[in-house]
This record gives sequence, C-alpha cells and structure tokens, in this order.
Amino acid sequence: MMPAAQAAPETLVVEDVTFALRRSARRRTIGISIPREGPPVVAVPARCSRRTAEAAVRGKLAWVRRKLGDRDARAELPPHRYETGERFPWRGREYELVVVGDSSGADGPVHAARQARGPDVDRGGQLAFDVAAILDDGLPGRSPVQAAATGEESNDGPLCLRDGRFELTRSAQADGQAHFRAWYRRRATDVLTARVAHFAPLVGVAPPPIAVKEMRSRWGSCSAKGRVSLHWGLALLDPGLLDYVVVHELVHLKELHHQPPFWRGVESVLPDYRERRKRLRGESARDVV
Ligand SMILES: [Zn+2]
Repeated sequence: MMPAAQAAPETLVVEDVTFALRRSARRRTIGISIPREGPPVVAVPARCSRRTAEAAVRGKLAWVRRKLGDRDARAELPPHRYETGERFPWRGREYELVVVGDSSGADGPVHAARQARGPDVDRGGQLAFDVAAILDDGLPGRSPVQAAATGEESNDGPLCLRDGRFELTRSAQADGQAHFRAWYRRRATDVLTARVAHFAPLVGVAPPPIAVKEMRSRWGSCSAKGRVSLHWGLALLDPGLLDYVVVHELVHLKELHHQPPFWRGVESVLPDYRERRKRLRGESARDVV
C-alpha cells in the first residue's frame, strides 16, 4: 500500500453514484447515510472488502437516489432573505419572522403580521409549554432558557423568539443568517445541556461535558474518552428526536458499541426508541450512530 492511500478519502463508485467509504474499527455493520452536503457515505467495518460494501450499497441504490433527490429539492428552495413573513424552525415547529424597528421595538409590518398570523396565544402558549418542560428537568439556577420563558429575551441581541415569533431588528437584517445561526447554537446549547442533565441520572451516568457543534453527517457522537458531542441542529427538530440522540450518546458512556446491551440501555429509558430512531432517519437520512 502506498502511504498516501491512507490519507486520501476512499470512494466507492456504484453505477452513477459515488460514495465516500469510511472504515471504522468499532463498526460491525454496513450503514449508508446522506449528509447534508457532499457525497453519500457508506460506513463499513475496518476490514470490510470493497466487494462486500458494493453489494450492500447496490441493494440500497434506489433509496440513495431518492434521498439525494430529496436533498437536491431542498437545496433548490430560495435562500432566506430574513424578511417579515419568512418561517424558521425551532423545536419541531415553524415560527414566523418579523423584522422590527431598532428602538421602538415595533413598526408597521409587525402589526400587519400580528393580524395575519391569528391568535398569539396559540403559538406563544405552546412555546411556553416547551420551555417549561425544559425547566422541569431541574436545571439549577436562572438559565437563559428561563429568561426566555419570562420574555426577557430582548436583552439577548438583535434576534429573539418572543410571543410565538422570531423578531429581528431591522439593522441586523443584512446579517440575518449569522444572527440565526448564533441564536440557534446558543439556544441549542441551553436545551441540550438541560436534556443531558435530565437523562443522565435515568441512564445511570454522571452528566458528561458536552460539545455542541455542527457535524458533517452525525447528530451526535461519543468518544472512547467519554466526550459527548451533539449537533445544534437537533434543537430545530421535534423534541422527541433530540431526546433520542441525547439518550443514545449517554448510553454510549456505559456501552461503547451497538450490541444488544447498548440497545437494552436505550430502551430502558425510551421504550419507543425504535420509532424515534426511524423518524430521525426518515427526516434527515443522516447517520445517528
Ligand atoms: Zn451510537
């Protein structure tokens, strides 16, 4: 083997589809995933032959093509312009964006949007419910999440989620994407920290330090040293899916594999984990293991 071959990413071409082939000593099965960007990934055990990998992939080629098609269709959606009326996800729901004046906090479009949107109570109440559920996890002290529940989020910067809608100050509109990404990441850290604190005793582990980041093709991971990483994008999905990934990674602190004892550990905390796992895969087709 040429030394360079080890560093170069391995690919596997099957008909018209080029896969990134990833080998892992910890893997016992072959898995296929469609990351948000880049080629589909086929993950295989370290010593899996290319012929075996190709045979496995060939059987799933129709699924891969369909998922790539879905991904392309999503990519063709027009990019956000961060204008009033656009919708943004959070915790499994979509919230309307309203661009507000910088000092008064409200201007013309705000009132128009309010009327067009229907009763505030509905969405506002629903959001408050979610936040309360997070607080029930026994998060100590006064957290930013708690501040959000009491409507103090206006101190939070040019973007906030209040009364069932995102509010972005007009002067920040040009940097809308950066503000949303920063907001998501910060809020996701609050939510993930709270859910890890909630589930750790149920799994029977000490709450580990977590790294909240953006991962290429995974929602979460757990290193051999017990470092848990979680994707901030989890907080945009249905809360039940975030909980599944949190529990999955926490159980890895006890069982660093996917053998039956691992899944029994997940099931003891989330009896319906299979359904959640399926939904997570269906929604994103990203590899969660
Ligand atoms: Zn796993």
